[in-house]
Amino acid sequence: MCEKSSCQTTVVHLKIQAHTTTMVKSTSMDALTSGKKSAQLKREILRRYMVNGGESIADLSRELGLSVPTLTKIVTELIEEDLVTDLGKQGATGGRRPSIYGLNPAAGYFMGVDIKRDVIVMGIINFRGDMVVSRQYDFIIENTRQSFDELCNHITQFIASSRIRRDKLLAIGINISGRVNPESGYSYSYFFFDEKPLTTVLEERLGYRVFIENDSRAMTYGEYMYGVGNNEQNMIFLNLSWGFGIGMILGGELHYGKSGFSGEYGHFPFFDNEIICSCGKRGCLETEVSGWAAHRQFIEKLKQGNISMLSKQFESGQQITLADILDVLGKEDMLAIEVMEQIGAQLGRAIAGLINMFNPDVIVLGGTLYEAKDYLLLPIKSAINKYALNFVSKDTAVKVSKLGESAGLIGICAITRNKMLGL
Ligand SMILES: [Zn+2]
Repeated sequence: MCEKSSCQTTVVHLKIQAHTTTMVKSTSMDALTSGKKSAQLKREILRRYMVNGGESIADLSRELGLSVPTLTKIVTELIEEDLVTDLGKQGATGGRRPSIYGLNPAAGYFMGVDIKRDVIVMGIINFRGDMVVSRQYDFIIENTRQSFDELCNHITQFIASSRIRRDKLLAIGINISGRVNPESGYSYSYFFFDEKPLTTVLEERLGYRVFIENDSRAMTYGEYMYGVGNNEQNMIFLNLSWGFGIGMILGGELHYGKSGFSGEYGHFPFFDNEIICSCGKRGCLETEVSGWAAHRQFIEKLKQGNISMLSKQFESGQQITLADILDVLGKEDMLAIEVMEQIGAQLGRAIAGLINMFNPDVIVLGGTLYEAKDYLLLPIKSAINKYALNFVSKDTAVKVSKLGESAGLIGICAITRNKMLGL
C-alpha cells in the first residue's frame, strides 16, 4: 500500500515542516519522526489500522513479514505513546484468542472545513476517523478580506462549540476550490492577499497547524477510504458539481502532479463550440458537462418552449437553481431527464478517454450531480461501450458515490490526519 520511496519523501518533508513551523504542537506524534526505521514501521501499522480497523500481532506479523517479538515491541511503544489501544480478544469460543490492537480514538482530533458554493461545512474526526461533530453555515466565498474574516470567525466559533480540548485538536484542513497548491500552502483563486502562503496566514490567525487542499482531491480521498472506493489502488473520482474536476488515486496514492494542480479535466479542450468557460477559454469539457452546463441547457430548453414541472416557476420570472432541477429530476421530470441523458452521453465519451489512458479499477460519479444516479449512469455506460477499448474497460467498474455531499468533509479530515502522521 505504501511505496517505500514515496513514504520516505513524506517523512523528510514533514521533518522540514516541523522545523520551520512554530505552530506544531508537541504531541506523541512527534515520536513518529524519530528513529527512521521504527518510525516507518509505526506509520505502516497505523495505516493498516486505519484501513482494517485493527488486527492481532500474529496477523501483522504474517502481513508485514516481521517477527512477533519485533512487532510486540513496536505495538507496545505505540500503546505507550497513546496512539494505539487494546480492542479486546477476537474470535469465537475455544483456543487462545489473540488481542486485537487498533487506533486509540482519543489520541487526537483533526478538523476539516469544506467550502462549497453557498455553504461551509465543518467537522472534527477522532484519531480512528469517526466524525464526532459537524455543522453547516451559510457562507459564500469571495476573494475579499471580509470573506476571509468571516471564514476565520466561523472556524473559531465552531471549535469553541465543539468542546474538544485545545491541545487535542492537532490540525485543521481546508478545501478551497480553484487553484490551490497544498505543498506550498498557496491558494491563488481565493484569499491571495499576502506574500506569505495562505496556510501561514491562517496558522498565525487561528493558532493551529493548517493545511489546504483542492476540493475534488479531498472528495476523492474520502470516497477512497470510506465510500465506494473500497481501497481500490487505481480510482478516478468525478466531481461533477457546478464545475467539473477529477481526483485520482494511482497505485494507492493521491495524485498531485508537480504543483498540486492535477485533475483539471473539466478544462480539457473537448468541444468545438462557442461557449466561454469559467477559465476564460472556449470549448472546455465543462462547458457541456457540469452543473452549470445542465443549468444552462435546461433554461435554454424552457426558453424554446419545452414543458417541465418548473415551467410555471420559469414563466413567473422566479429564479431556477440547479437544486430545483435536481429536485424535479427526482420526480421524473422529463425535461430534466433529457438534459441529464445528454450530459451523461458526453460525459461517457470523456470517461472512455480516461479509461483508455489510466486503466482504473473504478470510476466514481460524485459531486452535486451524483443525485442524478441512473439518469447519468446508463448513458455513461452506453458511451463507454461505444468509445472505450473493450479490453481496457471490461476491468473498470463505474459506481455512484456513497458519501455524496459529505465526501469533501470526510476526505479533508482524513487527509489532515495523514499529513500530521506523515502518511
Ligand atoms: Zn475551462
